[in-house]
Amino acid sequence: MKAAVWYGEKDIRIEERELKALKTDEVTVRVAWAGICGSDLHEYQEGPVFVPVNEPDQFTGEVAPLIMGHEFAGVIEKVGSEVTRFKVGDRVAINPTLTHGIKPEALDTYDGFSFIGLHGDGGFTTFANAPEKQVYKLPETMTLQDGALVEPMAVAVQAIKESELLFGDTVAVFGAGPIGLLTVIAAKAAGASKIIVLDLSANRLEKALELGATHAINSGEVDGIQAIRDIVPGGVDVTFEVAGVAPTFKAAIDATRARGTMVIVSIFARPIEWNPLHLTNTGVKITSSIAYTPTTFQQTVDLMGTGQLKPQGIVTSQIVLDDIVSNGFEALTNDKTQAKILVELSGEK
Ligand SMILES: [Zn+2]
Repeated sequence: MKAAVWYGEKDIRIEERELKALKTDEVTVRVAWAGICGSDLHEYQEGPVFVPVNEPDQFTGEVAPLIMGHEFAGVIEKVGSEVTRFKVGDRVAINPTLTHGIKPEALDTYDGFSFIGLHGDGGFTTFANAPEKQVYKLPETMTLQDGALVEPMAVAVQAIKESELLFGDTVAVFGAGPIGLLTVIAAKAAGASKIIVLDLSANRLEKALELGATHAINSGEVDGIQAIRDIVPGGVDVTFEVAGVAPTFKAAIDATRARGTMVIVSIFARPIEWNPLHLTNTGVKITSSIAYTPTTFQQTVDLMGTGQLKPQGIVTSQIVLDDIVSNGFEALTNDKTQAKILVELSGEK
């Protein structure tokens, strides 16, 4: 089967790969659609970040070169002998986050994790195997394209939960990339009364307004903190740091009211210099979020199924596997109007 395989920085190849032997607790999914994630882009631009290159990953037992893609959905093609919850033909989304599963689920991710599609073979191909416990049935109201958006949507839902946002709270989102945009959608669904988005790209800000932001601020043109305080004197209740650099980290704290919460959603590629006195002086609380719990993943499926969460607007283009480097990774690198790019595999609805 044809697959997009990561070999190294700026080296993703389309080549023929064999599907691995199906384990008894696994299902084989015929992949319909798969999204390109910011972390895939990191692996392409400056990897390896997560991809195991020297020794086999502790969860998957795999090592590069491996098939990328962790945001995918499809139809079950085959089930292992111990699989009880699924049958051939079921439409499903994959939760790619592998954990030990021995701690209560809220703590589990903090005991180490790996991703199907980053630490082991993923979904940029025809068929993918996944353990039954990582598989979630899609309701009839959701398409398989919607299914490919569950994973990134769940990241934003988890971030909202970590923020302890209350109905009516005011919110600022620093960074309007795909996860920033999904955080806007999730904050709206969670009842935020004002959602202020900051970014340097006019295109991305326009998209944020389209998806539910109430205010868009170009932080390259105006003083972002002042602009936020003009809208919400004293600062917003909750801020989300979705850019991952020192200036936005500090600005997000400054934009938050005393005893409000700043949530780190981005993955910081590098350490930053910062004085904790910043918290002493402002009374802001900082927390962080990574991936999602299994419960959050299921709730995201449910909320998309009912239409309470509608992430579909973040999709800016659909491409075929053969073009994944030029129209996928290179497009995301060079064209800031791109948000989520979906790769068509079987293309089933
Ligand atoms: Zn992702």
